[in-house]
Amino acid sequence: MLDRVAPGATVGILGGGQLGRMLALAAANLGLKSHIFCPDPHSPAFDVSARHSVADYEDEAALRAFAGAVDVVTYEFENVPARTAEIIESVRPLHPGAKALATAQDRLAEKTFVAGLGIPTAPFRAVRSEAELARALEELGGPAILKTRRFGYDGKGQVRIRPGDSVAEAWAQLGGAPAILEGFVPFSREVSIVAARGRDGSFAAYDACWNEHRDGILHLTRVPAHLAAATEQAAVAAAQRITEALGYVGVIAVEMFVLGEGEGATVAVNEIAPRVHNSGHWTSEGAQTSQFEQHIRAICGWPLGATGSTGRVEMRNLIGSEIEAWPEILGTPGAHLHHYGKAKARPGRKMGHVTTVHRKSE
Ligand code: AMP
Repeated sequence: MLDRVAPGATVGILGGGQLGRMLALAAANLGLKSHIFCPDPHSPAFDVSARHSVADYEDEAALRAFAGAVDVVTYEFENVPARTAEIIESVRPLHPGAKALATAQDRLAEKTFVAGLGIPTAPFRAVRSEAELARALEELGGPAILKTRRFGYDGKGQVRIRPGDSVAEAWAQLGGAPAILEGFVPFSREVSIVAARGRDGSFAAYDACWNEHRDGILHLTRVPAHLAAATEQAAVAAAQRITEALGYVGVIAVEMFVLGEGEGATVAVNEIAPRVHNSGHWTSEGAQTSQFEQHIRAICGWPLGATGSTGRVEMRNLIGSEIEAWPEILGTPGAHLHHYGKAKARPGRKMGHVTTVHRKSE
């Protein structure tokens, strides 16, 4: 199955949330069908795809039937169980592959891998017990963040520890789960590099974007990120090195901290997302090729699209009841509404986003 996937073929997507939905829409634009696999019978991606399977990620028979019915498989979330990936890979190509999944699923493996490539990260230590936490705090000194190694997202599974705080309490808060302690990085801003690597090893990065979070959830992404040229080059080079070392195929997002300001600013990698990412949503209107199309191109073995920005861009997430502003957004000139079609607007739930592009000529 190393030959190209051609229009008319079917892309299999594990996960049926908004990312799966936007991937399916991009696939449709390229003449492909999609088949979504998700345990939730009310998945937003089902509404826009040719087929779907409702089953657990542990259901081997359902996974085999799904993989057998598609031409290539990808996913919209990094917590795909290793066994699930193994079953899929025994039937059809899975992109990005198992190495990217295993690395991104475990914060300790991720930081060890990135640091091993000579790319700066926060200082870190593995922590498996209260005694190890006490030792790690002493070694790193200063404020720190304790994170579960697995299943953390949007700031969940994290405890901030200041000098003098109770070690026992911090350890208890994570419930004894294997953890990583990171020294607190005094960053000036947070940015990400969204990029893609093709099956032929070609690489294309979007302009760096500047991310602001609220309550641990991405609130606003802005492009350009106004990094000094050398800082942005270093950020892109780090993303490229990571994709090469992983033998990566598809879109990746590399979240980074910026240290310092202006010409002398440097970056440290915080996290890798082996998939299309919320901080890349601006590319749908703000870049020559959207991250969703780019991902489909990459996993199908097609040439990557151009990644240039079409102007100055802002992407704002619509969280929970913020989606109720959809009529006003539709009435705002230049605002592009993306409504994920989710039935219930629970607090903290990503319901949609809105993108505004200020064209280069304006
Ligand atoms: P994460 O789940 O690793 O993406 O962390 C969520 C947020 O916590 C990040 O976007 C940062 O704002 C903050 N954060 C995480 N790790 C660190 C760190 N080592 N130093 C400072 N801030 C951090």
